[in-house]
Amino acid sequence: MAVVIDGKSLADRIRAEIAGEVQKLKSRGLTPGLAVVRVGEDEASKIYVRNKVNACEKAGMKSFHVHLPAKISQEELVRQIQNLNRDPKIHGILVQLPLPSHIKPDEIVELIDPKKDVDGLHPFNLGRLSVGKPVFIPCTPAGIMRLLKEIGYDCDGKEAVIVGRSNIVGKPMAYLLLAQNATVTMCHSHTKDLLIKLKMADIIVAAAGTPNLVEGAWVKKGAVVIDVGINRSSDGRIVGDVDFDEVAPVAGYLTPVPGGVGPMTIAMLLRNTLEAAKRTQGQGKAKSSPIKKAAKKKQAPKTKKKPSKKKKK
Ligand code: NAD
Repeated sequence: MAVVIDGKSLADRIRAEIAGEVQKLKSRGLTPGLAVVRVGEDEASKIYVRNKVNACEKAGMKSFHVHLPAKISQEELVRQIQNLNRDPKIHGILVQLPLPSHIKPDEIVELIDPKKDVDGLHPFNLGRLSVGKPVFIPCTPAGIMRLLKEIGYDCDGKEAVIVGRSNIVGKPMAYLLLAQNATVTMCHSHTKDLLIKLKMADIIVAAAGTPNLVEGAWVKKGAVVIDVGINRSSDGRIVGDVDFDEVAPVAGYLTPVPGGVGPMTIAMLLRNTLEAAKRTQGQGKAKSSPIKKAAKKKQAPKTKKKPSKKKKK
């Protein structure tokens, strides 16, 4: 029978550590601030944003819930993000997805100052992650890696299969597992024979948004199964992408839904916001900000070429 990984209690521990660090920062006059932007009335987004704002407040951070009407224009949303970028009280900005269909989400995400991109979705941050030099790691994959660390799992040489290739979960997850020397297979809605691919996996990360997609017969004995999915079943319950009852007798480890990956996502959001705030005082994990370094390199004047001593012929 699988060991059920308790993401909730690990997340609680991490949140308590973060709250302690926030208190220290506050005593030095710095309160980390997170702006959460929500556009429209999507019911699921409302719940996710409320959870994030509450978690932020509980950790002693300041939260700014920016709720905008569904009919907002692209230009007005751009202005709102630019204001948040300029506001020194705000260290992290998160735009809750999905956005209404008339808004171009890529343009909005790319507008967020990478130094405040605590969701890690800006191409700068995803690019840094892809070359093994992460600054902000997207919260859900970061939380999953922390769960694997907690159970003492060594990914080196393991077969990892990820179901789902979104920028927020699947792709960053692949980079993180590759960095730990796993062999990674990415599956998606066009993948043929998902069953065969899953059956060879030592680690499965299911992030498809399809209730009970992963069945017991598809899982190798002893595999670590991470269920990212949050779906509402026909009877109103929240269920994952993994059929828990079928997979539990086969897997070695399994995350529950709810209580597995979800709470870790929020804990990592707080961690990223804390880091963003610390970096404004030069105290973040990176000794000097890689974002500043990259900007400096771009601006550095080219060294003057020595005048050639060769005479013109
Ligand atoms: P998405 O819709 O952006 O991407 C889904 C991916 O799954 C796509 O790449 C698609 O090709 C693939 N897919 C869909 N159906 C499939 C199938 N039958 N077989 C194989 N691949 C399939 O979704 P997302 O934003 O990555 O989220 C995925 C799920 O994870 C959702 O249920 C979402 O609510 C949940 N989620 C949970 C957390 C958390 O904190 N627990 C965070 C983010 C997303």
